[in-house]
Amino acid sequence: MDRISVAQPVLNGNERKYVLDCLDTNWISSVGKYIGAFEETFATFCGVKHAIATNNGTTALHLALVALDLQPGDEVIIPTVTYIATANAVRYCGATPVLVDVQADTMNIDPAEIERKITAKTKGIIPVHLYGHPAEMEAINGIARKHGLWVVEDAAEAHGAEVSGRKVGSMGTCATFSFFGNKIVTTGEGGMVTTNDDALAQKLRLFRGQGMDLARRYWFPVVGYNYRMTNIQAAIGLAQMETIEKSLADRALLASWYAEALAELADQIILPKGSAWIKQVHWMYNIFLREGDAARRDAVMRNLDQVGIETRPVFYPMHILPPYKEDNVYPVADLWAARGINLPTHQALTKQDVERVAASLKKALLEA
Ligand SMILES: *Cc1c(COP(=O)(O)O)cnc(C)c1O
Repeated sequence: MDRISVAQPVLNGNERKYVLDCLDTNWISSVGKYIGAFEETFATFCGVKHAIATNNGTTALHLALVALDLQPGDEVIIPTVTYIATANAVRYCGATPVLVDVQADTMNIDPAEIERKITAKTKGIIPVHLYGHPAEMEAINGIARKHGLWVVEDAAEAHGAEVSGRKVGSMGTCATFSFFGNKIVTTGEGGMVTTNDDALAQKLRLFRGQGMDLARRYWFPVVGYNYRMTNIQAAIGLAQMETIEKSLADRALLASWYAEALAELADQIILPKGSAWIKQVHWMYNIFLREGDAARRDAVMRNLDQVGIETRPVFYPMHILPPYKEDNVYPVADLWAARGINLPTHQALTKQDVERVAASLKKALLEA
């Protein structure tokens, strides 16, 4: 039987046409009409004034922190369960990521735990909309306001998600996105920073382009970076944005198929549940084993792999990874991240694929 991958890009719109246009017109580097068009389309989609494209999601995060003037010795609050890029970007600035435990149902940063981690060195908070489920932005922004902190939304996994009708990417001081090949919108590799702050947008553009003065070519007032996106990447991104509503709808349908097919396993696994105040998008459909530890979870994943179904573990918490290791315990992350599995989630999956995953999972749970 065909192998089912955990993620794959779907490029069935104008991607090919626009890329060929770049080749035919010779505009293959980081100048060209697709870059501005992609940025404008993305800004409109998120409901923000500015979108600044970058060469990947990690540089988008780093660029945001540079533009916010994060310095060595500063501290930034992040959830312990995230992709490592969130923590790495803080470290690139010489600052310290300060970890906070997560909420069991969403694996998102727990606002109730944030305040006790704030010190005189804290400069900001990076909530992550993990797996497409928005973090509790109202509570987080409230804490940030009270303590004079900035908020960078890490929206790498949540293109199109909403909180009370507002899109992620529009609720922090700024926000960052990734367009890696497995993300909801892809450009192969790529990233974006969104913001409503005009001055911050100028700084982001300055530091993205090697620090070159935006009004004076080859004059460099600061040390910047080359974090530019190419016209070819942007061409793919623009085509992806033309079909994003269909991508989100296909993924929502997929999630409903999973919910239906997995309902009979509810005594053994916890399925994702939505909340009325948010619109979740489905970057990864996650389940959590009700019983056992990481070894049992890994056994279930191995069993699925043997029958041609690729899965992924929920991210290892930062506090157990060598670069960020701590002796502190984060009870929710320690218990639940170890029991979480990302099931295959992408737009090319069929209802039959989902039924095959469910049947194989049922068998794997019996054997593990
Ligand atoms: C994918 C991702 C990133 C980084 O994106 P890249 O484009 O792979 O550099 C950052 N944060 C989170 C939460 C991600 O999932």
